[in-house]
Amino acid sequence: MSAVWNDEADAAPAGTANSAKIEREAHKLEKRLCREVGRAISDFNMIEAGDKVMVCLSGGKDSYGMLDILLKLKARAPVHFDLIAVNLDQKQPGFPEDVLPAYLKQVGVPFHIEEQDTYSIVKRVVPEGKTTCGLCSRLRRGILYRVADELGATKIALGHHRDDILATFFLNMFFAAKLKAMPPKLVSDDGRHVVIRPLAYVAEKDLVRWAQHRGFPIIPCNLCGSQENLQRQVVGDMLRDWERKHPGRIENMFSALQNIAPSHLLDGTLHDFKGLKPTGVADENGDKAFDPPELPPSSPAAGLPALQVVKIG
Ligand code: SF4
Repeated sequence: MSAVWNDEADAAPAGTANSAKIEREAHKLEKRLCREVGRAISDFNMIEAGDKVMVCLSGGKDSYGMLDILLKLKARAPVHFDLIAVNLDQKQPGFPEDVLPAYLKQVGVPFHIEEQDTYSIVKRVVPEGKTTCGLCSRLRRGILYRVADELGATKIALGHHRDDILATFFLNMFFAAKLKAMPPKLVSDDGRHVVIRPLAYVAEKDLVRWAQHRGFPIIPCNLCGSQENLQRQVVGDMLRDWERKHPGRIENMFSALQNIAPSHLLDGTLHDFKGLKPTGVADENGDKAFDPPELPPSSPAAGLPALQVVKIG
């Protein structure tokens, strides 16, 4: 199944000399996006035969990109599934309510616009100067679960990408003292829905370029007047800065989230440290407790000072 999910578009790029180059680049980008989304769907069994996937559309580049790529994959997926785009119009001042319906009609995808004035509720309930995002997100979540039920959706797709997942990992570490990122697939807190993140492997910069190429009618995300998650922005800047100085580091960190060694962390609930006993059997690949950790010479981390000394006692 994964081979077909990951199948790549094979239409040849076209156009004159200059535009041919642009088309070629766009074609490569489209192939990469389809490949990464297909890989995530396959790796985590996100979409199954007969699913009705509710694609949550905010009007930002990520959710437009998600819908766009899912539509492409649907056309050649090994199984039949349906998509329905859903936007929650929270009645924020200045929300251009015609933009999404016009776009979705033009694309030809079934859609539902849910109008709920959460903006007024949040403004009324949250004291001036306090952050509104917590209540706003809770209200939005409840509404989207209800809408999923009403539409008979079997999966809810959110447009978080690789960089969101990594930023969440650092936010949880810095502010919640937890090694915890953002799952690619989960059961919702009400126990009734499966939420998927088909963009889990996709780099944000690819979504930026894809949105530019496709000319999505982006709706600004600051209409509510609240500054969503300043800490998230700070962590995002930190990650981009690292990547600039040490190209490949984001990819390495993201790969690390899929390559975890509980025996080398300190969580006794994941590894039985207390019950450890010598096995009496030599293991070539076993832990070499006194040697420094080995880093591949080509690792981006090679830019860091070498780890030379292991302190004993
Ligand atoms: S930024 Fe505005 S719309 Fe977004 S979660 Fe916060 S309050 Fe809600």
